[in-house]
Amino acid sequence: MSLSGKTALITGSTSGIGLAIARALAADGAKVILNGFGDSIEIDRLRTELGAGYSAADLTKVDAIEAMMAEAGEVDILVNNAGMQHVAPVDQFPVDKWNLILALNLSAAFHTIRLALPGMKKKGWGRIINTASAHSLVASPNKSAYVAAKHGIAGLTKTVALEAATSGVTVNCISPGYVWTPLVENQIPDTMKARGLTREQVMNDVLLAAQPTKQFVTVDQVGALAAFLCRDEASAITGANLSMDGGWTAQ
Ligand code: NAD
Repeated sequence: MSLSGKTALITGSTSGIGLAIARALAADGAKVILNGFGDSIEIDRLRTELGAGYSAADLTKVDAIEAMMAEAGEVDILVNNAGMQHVAPVDQFPVDKWNLILALNLSAAFHTIRLALPGMKKKGWGRIINTASAHSLVASPNKSAYVAAKHGIAGLTKTVALEAATSGVTVNCISPGYVWTPLVENQIPDTMKARGLTREQVMNDVLLAAQPTKQFVTVDQVGALAAFLCRDEASAITGANLSMDGGWTAQ
């Protein structure tokens, strides 16, 4: 298995895309460390299934991130995936939500990267994968914090890729379109309220309206791309923002 002997820390991996990435990396032999919130019985079940470690760190808090990274030790693969969403017009956007989304979706990746990169450089091998979004390339109304953070993580990805370019460490982001996960499901009520639409209208006319394939991306497809980026065949891919969005950003 190509990743045996490698340790992979995947943030926000108790659910959705992060969990699928954790499963894909574990299947390739990596020792996986999970992070995120959720039901403790379910998290214990996932730990057993994947033979994984786990950190309950709240990544909106810098001291919790520093403690998680110290406990994890040297990680070979870092996947910054934890994220949250809030939907409201900018002039009604709650300030605390803005701060939380920027902290989780952008600043947390800065902190994990600054703490993990020296160990990767020392070993001469590393993979940093950030889960960005189609919203790292284009905007949608009522998602100012999310779009700002995702454009930010695309820029952070490119900058760190250049800084690490000669060190054997690649740094990329994956930009999915709409993937069917709790994050998407949970924003349906807010979008219904913000735009005065029914659930079906939000799904077909708002979410999948942007996606030419008219299908949600699957979490397993994102997991497979992350696993590919960890392979030696992907060592020339760095600084890339890889869209997996059913054609959304081709428009
Ligand atoms: P999800 O809600 O299923 O999972 C989010 C994960 O982050 C969970 O494990 C949750 O416990 C964890 N998390 C939330 N707050 C946290 C915190 N403060 N500290 C630590 N962990 C925390 O969401 P998802 O759809 O799988 O999204 C994962 C990533 O993919 C996010 O960055 C999201 O922006 C991005 N993304 C999702 C979609 C989509 O359509 N679902 C599309 C593009 C990008």
